[in-house]
Amino acid sequence: MNVLIVHAHPEATSFNGALTALALRTLQDRGHHVQISDLYAMKWKATLDPDDFAQRADTSRFEPSQEQEHAQYHHSVSPDVRAEQEKVQWADLVILQFPVWWFSMPAILKGWVDRVLSRGFAYSSGHKYDTGHLKGKRAMLSVTTGTASTLYEPNGVDGDLHHILWPIHNGTLAYTGFTVLPPIASWMPAQVDEAMRKQYLADYAERLAHLEELEPLFFHPRQDYDDHQQLKPGVIARSGVQWNPRAGQTFEQSAAAFADNDGRL
Ligand code: FAD
Repeated sequence: MNVLIVHAHPEATSFNGALTALALRTLQDRGHHVQISDLYAMKWKATLDPDDFAQRADTSRFEPSQEQEHAQYHHSVSPDVRAEQEKVQWADLVILQFPVWWFSMPAILKGWVDRVLSRGFAYSSGHKYDTGHLKGKRAMLSVTTGTASTLYEPNGVDGDLHHILWPIHNGTLAYTGFTVLPPIASWMPAQVDEAMRKQYLADYAERLAHLEELEPLFFHPRQDYDDHQQLKPGVIARSGVQWNPRAGQTFEQSAAAFADNDGRL
């Protein structure tokens, strides 16, 4: 299998760095091919702006989606973006490795998403979710946090990690067609002792050794939605984040449906 690790941490000796190094060794030992995009080391340009487009579709005003699609179809994508898109095309599995910053990904990684998973490349009109251009590929998040797992449980002050990661899982990965594997979190590696950090690394190696056995996260298929792209009246939401009033479902019941679906993190 071909694996692309998109690594977003500014310090090589960080715990994120240790997780990526471990992933490289573990996956290669198992016969997989691995490429790493180390975004800070690459000095990745994070902003999607007019400088990305040498041949503009419209020079009178900058419309990012239009320019992305135009560049894709006219083979004028900027070389740094093109190189990353080729890695994504090559990959069977894409791992995003990052520390949770402000309940999300570091800006440099968001910039990778903005520029690389572009309109025309990763999605286009009528081609999103089940028909996203990256259908057939898998993706997985490996994250670290600054706080304990208890804070990320449904009754924790930070809220369920599954909800926090939904914009990435659903809005980026599922949207572009990826099959999304459950995330793995290393909880507050800077606060725990060395033994716990070693355990996190062992847990990650174990996870990487059993990727084939992982049940992907559940997202409702296209046929569960009506013409307004809302869940049909009879469909009980099972994603763990949505709920369907038209099925008589309340917010509280959606959590129960998620648990029934074995949707635990
Ligand atoms: P590091 O501090 O780099 O590493 C932790 C420890 O692991 C260090 O002692 C290091 O020496 C050690 N280590 C390195 N390699 C190894 C190895 N091979 N074996 C054993 N030990 C090793 N947290 C949240 O939970 N939610 C947020 O919303 C959030 N927002 C943030 C926003 C910003 C802008 C910043 C800067 C931080 C935020 N944080 C937040 C905290 C952040 O998520 C954590 O600091 C980060 O996840 C910790 O991971 P790290 O790789 O940076 O750890």
